[in-house]
Amino acid sequence: MMRLVVLTGAGMSAESGIATFRGSDGLWENHRIVDVASPEGWAKNPHLVLDFYNQRRKRILEVAPNRGHEILAELEEHFDVQIITQNIDNLHERAGSKNVMHLHGEITKARSTSDASIVLDIDGSELNWGDLCPEGSQLRPHIVWFGEEVPMIQPAAELCTTADVFLIVGTSLQVYPAAGLIHSTPLGIPQYIVDPNTPAGISGQLQVIAKGASEGLEEVKEKLLRLL
Ligand code: NAD
Repeated sequence: MMRLVVLTGAGMSAESGIATFRGSDGLWENHRIVDVASPEGWAKNPHLVLDFYNQRRKRILEVAPNRGHEILAELEEHFDVQIITQNIDNLHERAGSKNVMHLHGEITKARSTSDASIVLDIDGSELNWGDLCPEGSQLRPHIVWFGEEVPMIQPAAELCTTADVFLIVGTSLQVYPAAGLIHSTPLGIPQYIVDPNTPAGISGQLQVIAKGASEGLEEVKEKLLRLL
């Protein structure tokens, strides 16, 4: 089976009703990124940060995968589909995709502030100040914040080297190191990007489908099936 590696960003979930952040003046749901997605923000006001992710978790569990998520799951009938997502939501999994690597963490998990290897499933529960890991340290959202290391970047880059086809959906390609993953793909393979606002400075090798995720992925699906 041909291996289709897919890199998705916040635009993938926009049609499910989850806001992207560069669409709204660089704010994420009306908050400055530094306040809710950085170690400095956590140190300054952990209550605000916990509340922010409690709201995001509640919202994500209220919404449903969109047609774009479904198409990526359906493509598993024809391709070995490997998804690398920058999203913290679980909409790919809920649409039925089996191989999903989360680069920036997962909203339904918490981790210990003293030992990053302690990661717990919290599903839809709130995470509050005073919620402790089994070792007795405060739990924080299992999210990679700006300025923090991205532990999954190496496995993601290795996966990209094995791609027969590469597809990008709904990312501004402004957040590194994720945006650099395209450089790990083999030279000369078919590459597509689905995004209504094509990011500046992308390589000429990428075929641009300037549409939203649902409509754009219907088009990509037809192109991909012709490769078989
Ligand atoms: P971004 O907000 O920087 O860019 C979003 C991209 O989506 C833009 O290029 C925009 O043109 C595109 N877009 C908008 N509507 C679309 C649609 N209907 N279909 C397809 N594309 C559409 O997002 P990013 O590049 O993913 O970086 C943002 C970071 O913020 C990520 O690392 C992520 O962790 C976090 N984030 C996650 C979520 C989520 O989990 N759903 C939501 C917001 C932000």
